[in-house]
Amino acid sequence: MEWCEVGSDWVSRFRRSVRRWYSRHGRQLPWVGQSDPYTVWVREIMLQQTTVTAVMPYLERFLARFPNVETLASATPDEVLRVWEGLGYYSRARNLWKAAGVVVDEWGGTWRRSAEELEALPGVGRYTAGAIASFAFDRAAPIVEANTARLFSRLIALPVAPSSSEGRKRLWSLAERVVPRVRPGEFNQALIDLGATVCGVEARCEVCPVRSCCEAFERDVVDRVPLRVPRADPTDVFKVILVMRREREVFVIRHPEGERWGGLWGFPSWDRNKPVSCTKGEAVRVQRDVAASGCEVEFLVWQKPFRHSVTRFRLHLQPIAVQWQAGEWLGTEAGEWVSLEELENRPLAVASRRIARRIESTEGSAMG
Ligand code: SF4
Repeated sequence: MEWCEVGSDWVSRFRRSVRRWYSRHGRQLPWVGQSDPYTVWVREIMLQQTTVTAVMPYLERFLARFPNVETLASATPDEVLRVWEGLGYYSRARNLWKAAGVVVDEWGGTWRRSAEELEALPGVGRYTAGAIASFAFDRAAPIVEANTARLFSRLIALPVAPSSSEGRKRLWSLAERVVPRVRPGEFNQALIDLGATVCGVEARCEVCPVRSCCEAFERDVVDRVPLRVPRADPTDVFKVILVMRREREVFVIRHPEGERWGGLWGFPSWDRNKPVSCTKGEAVRVQRDVAASGCEVEFLVWQKPFRHSVTRFRLHLQPIAVQWQAGEWLGTEAGEWVSLEELENRPLAVASRRIARRIESTEGSAMG
């Protein structure tokens, strides 16, 4: 397939068709028309790699807990992560907190209005900067996210993957070309809605308002665009998880920054190179691993194993409940003994929260 260039007639026709369609068929999202930069920023960060439906309850809770950039900046990272817990991609939450500090301490609480300046904030890429600039300040800033990338790819019959450097260049250049000076925020929202509801993975070309502008439709290659990059099979990871108890306390570590679940709390664990077998030999091996981290424990019981998928990893988790006997934790990750009540306030990795819930529900009866 060849590149398709667009001319100014095409741009005018495309804008008109998009606006006309949006006035009748735009989604009734609760945030349409909202222009508070703080709300737009939080929402757009949450929407990265997460669906609207999944984001809604989190957004509501987050804004109730941190209603403005000042409350967010003065919170602790743990408080922010606790509200974010379950939404995944935790670097987003850590960056939100860091960026709130920049807005309050370095910008004096006043938002910058241009996409270029907004891009200086931690965790704010070109898309988020364009979204804040156009939705909150009505600046003619282009946007490319999942829905618009698919739509744009088809409009110009992009012959390379949208995520390739050439693909990204082409899509951003088209986004720059189409964004209007008049009500650019509304126009950008219209593009997202069109990509989400008409030019979806299964394109609905029969009802598409921009069909006459679409090169993929013209060339009858809609089902081949955008080019799909085959996904690698998930990698299996086998782990034994240590649930170490001392009276009414449980031992947790903080996952190091830069690792899976970085910044969150969770139970210590060890990787195994094959499925964990609940045997006496494995229990002895766990006791040895714990001893190498400074503690002596008594084996109690194997708990029910479970699976959990994170990005391209399929985790097979086998918790083991043990009773602490002696010693201090000297493992590589920093750890603490916490009460079950305190555990509720800590931001936990999803798999660890699942184990914590089990402990809560069985507390009062025998462990396990
Ligand atoms: Fe997408 Fe089909 Fe519309 Fe082209 S005609 S933009 S492929 S829905």
